[in-house]
Parts: sequence; C-alpha cells; structure tokens
Amino acid sequence: MTHEEAFSLMMDALDGALAPAGADRLEQHLAACTGCRAEWSALQLVDDLLAGAPTIPAPAGFAGRVSARLVAASWPRTLGALFTLSVGSVAALLTVAVPAAVVLIATWAALSQPAGFAQLAIGLQQLARMGGAVLGASRTTLRILLVETTGSPLFLSWAVALGLVLAAWAHVLGRPAPVRVRGR
Ligand SMILES: [Zn+2]
Repeated sequence: MTHEEAFSLMMDALDGALAPAGADRLEQHLAACTGCRAEWSALQLVDDLLAGAPTIPAPAGFAGRVSARLVAASWPRTLGALFTLSVGSVAALLTVAVPAAVVLIATWAALSQPAGFAQLAIGLQQLARMGGAVLGASRTTLRILLVETTGSPLFLSWAVALGLVLAAWAHVLGRPAPVRVRGR
C-alpha cells in the first residue's frame, strides 16, 4: 500500500466509514511505516480536539460494543427503580408496623391484668379506653404536625418520601400485566 492510500484510509477511519478489511490493511501499513504512524497520531489528535470525541480506529465489532454499552447504561435506571421500591416498601411497612405494634402492646397490657373470665370484659373495656386515648393522642399529634411543623424540613422530607412511595407503586401497579400463553 502507498502512503497516499494509507492517508485515504485514515480519512475514512476518522469519518467512521472504514470497512473492517480497510482497517486491517491500514493497521498493517501503520505497523510498518513510521511516517504514516506519526501522521495518524497527529490526525487523531486534531480530530479529537475538533470533535471533542474519541476516534474510531478499528470499527470491527463496534456495533456490538455499542449495544453492550446501551444494555449496561439501562442498569442504573433498573437499580434506581429497585432502590425506590425497597425504600417505599420499608416505609410502607413502618407505616403499618408502628401502629400495629402500638395496638399489640396495648392488647398485651390489657390482657396481662389479673386473669379470670370476668376480668376479660374489664380488660376489653380498658383496651377500648386505651384505644380512645391513642386515637385522641393521634389526633392531637396530627393537629400539632399540621399547625406547627408544616414547612419544617422533617415534614417536607416525609411528604416527599410518601409521594415517591406512592409514585413508585403507582408505576409498578400501572404496568400492563405480562401476557400469558396457555400451554398444553
Ligand atoms: Zn506510510
């Protein structure tokens, strides 16, 4: 191959229009020709500066690598969705678990009163009274939360977290169900 041919192949390579066969021939010439190797380095440098992007000296297998990179790029999104769902699930669990624990403790406290069948009614009464107290306390807490802490960073982050959880689950539940083909 002449130096002129090599130069022409370099131009094609910089344009991303070099066939694998041409790339092989250029590579062979560059391995043997110091002058063209220096010229190729200078051309790549200039092209990098002008385009601000890496050149493609050997397009062989380029499409495969791009596809692999696209697959890899979709992983952060998947991981982000999984993370949001995990956090949402934990938050939902806590939202359910904390009141459930309060009810369980209240029940246990009421039932651990002096035993006896007649005492059970009293225990239930106490439980009901306790439940009323818990409800009243909740109402007071809610009122304090709404009046005093609306706009506080804690309340705002809680509201944002709740919104994220709802959005994540709405996204998951709103997804169309996978189509099942009946076998047999
Ligand atoms: Zn040469």
